[in-house]
Amino acid sequence: MTVNLVGAPCNHPGCDALSLSGAACCWVHLGDREAFRRDLRLDLASGADRGRARLAGANLGGENLEGAMLAGANLEGADLGRTNLSRALLYGARLVQADAGGADFTEAYMGRVRAQRAYLAGARLVGASLNQVRFIRAVLDGADLSRADCTEAFLMGAAMDKARIESADLTRADATGAYMKKIFARRANLAGAVLRRALVSDGDFHGARLEGADLSGLVAINADFTLASLNGARLPGARLRRAMFERTELADADLRGADLRGALMEGAWLEGADLTGAKLEGARLQGANFDGARLEGIDVPLPRA
Ligand SMILES: [Zn+2]
Repeated sequence: MTVNLVGAPCNHPGCDALSLSGAACCWVHLGDREAFRRDLRLDLASGADRGRARLAGANLGGENLEGAMLAGANLEGADLGRTNLSRALLYGARLVQADAGGADFTEAYMGRVRAQRAYLAGARLVGASLNQVRFIRAVLDGADLSRADCTEAFLMGAAMDKARIESADLTRADATGAYMKKIFARRANLAGAVLRRALVSDGDFHGARLEGADLSGLVAINADFTLASLNGARLPGARLRRAMFERTELADADLRGADLRGALMEGAWLEGADLTGAKLEGARLQGANFDGARLEGIDVPLPRA
């Protein structure tokens, strides 16, 4: 297989697509697709570096491409359903609108991967390197990103219902408007992350770090923040009904106008927090520390310290 770095156009008359690496035409006009898949699999399995390979639209579903060297490859719109890409080198690869449902990216190197609107439901990304990955409006429902490095990841509008980010590093990630119902985020590091207007209802953030995170307008009904650290976090207008903040650190947090009705806040640390106009009806506040907190306009009397 020869890799054509320049990128000749598909030889099919009237086709605007680029040819695949190692072929004279695009995937649509490829005659023997099984041979192409087999040759590519054997080539990659031999350890060949196919960085920047052109594989847009190719059907590689179910293939075993473990450890494949495909940094900067173009896999736009490719079918990677249930494909094994564990420990693959995919740094900077293009997976825009790829179908990688159920694929295995365990410990893969995926920094700076562009995967806008890609489908990754049920994918395994455990321990993957995903720094600055672009998962904008991607579907990651039920995906497992446990222990992954997602620092500065772009997750705006991503669908991550029931995804797992346990012990993952999402420092300074941007998940504005993301759908994260029932996300499992125990001990995740979300320090400085942006989750503006994100939906994390029924999520589990037990022991997570959210210091300085921007959670403005967050919807976290019934979410669990037990023992989490939200010092200096911004939560104005957040909807936190029945959320659990037992022994949670909320020092200097901005909770202006937050809806904390029925929240469990026993032993919470709210020193210096701003609760102006917050709704606290039915919240359990026994042992919570409000030293220096701003409490103008709240709707219930606080228990004496
Ligand atoms: Zn073509």
